[in-house]
Amino acid sequence: MRRDFGSRAELVDYVKQEFPECLEHGEQVSETRGGRRAAEALLEKVNPDRYARSRNFLSGAVTRLAPYLRHGVLSLGEVRRRALAKPNHEKLVNEYAWRDYWRRVYGQIGEGVWKDREEPKRRWRSAREQTALPEDIAGARTGLACMDGFVSELISTGYVHNHARMWFASYVIHWRRVRWQAAAKFFLTHLLDGDPASNNLSFQWVASTFGAKPYLFNRENLEKYTDGKFCRGCARANDCPFGKSYEQIDEELFQ
Ligand SMILES: Cc1cc2nc3c(=O)[nH]c(=O)nc-3n(C[C@H](O)[C@H](O)[C@H](O)COP(=O)(O)OP(=O)(O)OC[C@H]3O[C@@H](n4cnc5c(N)ncnc54)[C@H](O)[C@@H]3O)c2cc1C
Repeated sequence: MRRDFGSRAELVDYVKQEFPECLEHGEQVSETRGGRRAAEALLEKVNPDRYARSRNFLSGAVTRLAPYLRHGVLSLGEVRRRALAKPNHEKLVNEYAWRDYWRRVYGQIGEGVWKDREEPKRRWRSAREQTALPEDIAGARTGLACMDGFVSELISTGYVHNHARMWFASYVIHWRRVRWQAAAKFFLTHLLDGDPASNNLSFQWVASTFGAKPYLFNRENLEKYTDGKFCRGCARANDCPFGKSYEQIDEELFQ
């Protein structure tokens, strides 16, 4: 394959020509740059202390290293060593460990990551379950500014913050009762770091087929970690399915 290009536009045209099947999913091209130089520049900026204090906020000091780890531009050992040399690195190293763990499970079970690892720990109130991702979700037309915003960001940039991935997965699986595989496939299609190990096993953790209980959230939690940016302009702010206590949500969703 060609390696040298006069401009980024030329590179984009070449990739479109070589991989026309990608165009089936839209023409958007992420701003994220590939390659070792871009990866090293990001690695240089990683601040484990700020990461530990702010990682749950969408505006937090997350690393954006996942695409480079996913595609072997950086190794997990290398980023771990760099983190260990900086203060307050435990939280970040702990997150790297999740990646390592999911990868080892994938190494053992391979395509088994597409099957429920365990029985779900709770039963939904309604047995109705969908196997395909509903069009309003995939098309960012649910009317929920948060969920539509996450999908738009996913499609246009190939990135979604970890907390937003958790909220989205929980919404799709528990509120909409869609099989997690449909949402996992959707993520793998668009994420630059799309990886069957971290992706599918994280979806299973949210679904409780590889975890102790279903992951749930409420509006207060989402509003706090997004600084309210979605709720302020949301058309469904007065009819928000998440605007309840955890006890109410649990009661509403599960038997
Ligand atoms: C539903 C769902 C789907 C996901 N799909 C993917 C995926 O396809 N590919 C992928 O690489 N990650 C996936 N993750 C894990 C995590 O969300 C991303 O690794 C992270 O958001 C990538 O952004 P970052 O590099 O800025 O991460 P940071 O928050 O800066 O974290 C630093 C690094 O730690 C690792 N890491 C952090 N959180 C996790 C986690 N929960 N599980 C495993 N590794 C973690 C990643 O390598 C990441 O690059 C998923 C999580 C969820 C909840």
